[in-house]
Amino acid sequence: SVSSSVVREASKDKLLGGLLSAEFEDCSCFSRYRSAAYRKASPHLPSPYLVERLRRYEALHRKCGPNTELYKKSIERLKSKQSSANMECNYIVWIPHYGLGNRVVSLVSSFLYAILNDRVLLVHVPHELTDLFCEPFPGTSWVLPSDFPVHNFQNFDKDTPQSFGNMLRDKVISIDMRSSANATLPAYVYLHLPWYYNEWDKLFFCQDAQQMLRKVPWLLLKSDHYFVPSLFLVEEYDDELRRLFPERTTVFHHLVRYLLHPSNTVWGYVTRYYHAYLAKADKRVGIQIRNLKNEPVPFETLLGQIVNCSSKEGILPSIDLRHTARPAEDDAKVTAVFTTSLDSGYSDRIRDMYYEHATTTGEIVGVYQASHEVEQRTEQQNHNIKALSEITLLSFSDVLITTACSTFGYVAQGLGGLEPLILTKPWKSKLPCRWAESPEPCFLIPPPSDVCRDHGGINKKMAQNVRQCEDENGGVKLF
Ligand code: GDP
Repeated sequence: SVSSSVVREASKDKLLGGLLSAEFEDCSCFSRYRSAAYRKASPHLPSPYLVERLRRYEALHRKCGPNTELYKKSIERLKSKQSSANMECNYIVWIPHYGLGNRVVSLVSSFLYAILNDRVLLVHVPHELTDLFCEPFPGTSWVLPSDFPVHNFQNFDKDTPQSFGNMLRDKVISIDMRSSANATLPAYVYLHLPWYYNEWDKLFFCQDAQQMLRKVPWLLLKSDHYFVPSLFLVEEYDDELRRLFPERTTVFHHLVRYLLHPSNTVWGYVTRYYHAYLAKADKRVGIQIRNLKNEPVPFETLLGQIVNCSSKEGILPSIDLRHTARPAEDDAKVTAVFTTSLDSGYSDRIRDMYYEHATTTGEIVGVYQASHEVEQRTEQQNHNIKALSEITLLSFSDVLITTACSTFGYVAQGLGGLEPLILTKPWKSKLPCRWAESPEPCFLIPPPSDVCRDHGGINKKMAQNVRQCEDENGGVKLF
């Protein structure tokens, strides 16, 4: 099978149905136009309206981006602390938080927020994130300039007085339209949306708050989650979101493929590994194993889940315990299993299993893992390069197995457009695994469903846009 052994047909639509702009130089970011050839063709086309909106966004970003006159003007206003409604350019500054998967899902959410509000998305790139991602918007930059004048914004957190929640609590601002109509608004607002956000912060997801925030030229946002599902509950975004995404369960798939392009450095890791270990196989299976230290699943339990679920669901063959000596045929089908984990134990055991035994089907199974970093070291650039490389390699799978509630897995499934088999948490589920219904991530810590009861409410019809996640009862995902 030479054709599957090399990269899938090169003639594939490298612009992903118009999702990507054709304006970039290939060599500035090899992954941008070449990733498609490594993945199964996506059955999901972006809507013509999404394509149009992305081009419009790119034009806005070029007009208002760093180093433009309009950007300088906005920065001057910010410095003078004037509330400056009706500015031509408005911004949202993304502040990274937690692990790489968390960062990507919150970044994608922030981008959708920017599109919905005609804001320009700028990202704070600390040293550990340098040379990870390519620029996504042609002819400009999304990197927040280092002389951004808000003092210490990288460390903004729950106690920051300029947070939306704290300003509401302290009555510096109000989301009651009548009382805020004539009030002066601050030049910027910090949106505190990590999992430990409070009742006040959560009011962000109400229609009244959205209308008020529209008058603030600079928003600084910190989140570690995929908060898109809650934007689908805000009534005034309903029409636009329906036009952008007639197929609601493809939001993340399209946006993450649009926004996230591994740098040439990362792409080097990805392609070296792919061609050394995975390209020649007849089938590629990705297994993402995340066993958290603070709530661990016993090693043998998790290993059992992986082995039993993958064989029961027909993803990997069972081993033949009766004819252990059966030799492999010359033309045997080869499956390459690509595992990712901070530990090497799971991969070693699965590899040994297929080394010591023939399979019942005669297939041959090779098991590979690129790194075992032992622990999360988000502050190290080289560690993050490996994490992004492995997320990308997972996205090239024909079939993907992920661990419940892991944003690392969410990014891989979104890039690949894959519905993974989820390894459930034993204390949350009777079944050891279940299939995800779409490549959409779960919003694991959403605000309560009645959060907006005093502020515009939540439309009953729109509540049907989301449902409970497969991997987390308290979470919601687009449906
Ligand atoms: P989550 O915590 O599972 O939601 O995923 P995150 O990506 O946000 O945080 C986990 C971080 O731990 C990753 O970003 C990596 O830095 C590291 N990590 C976890 N699992 C792996 C893995 O399989 N491979 C590598 N290279 N790093 C991992």
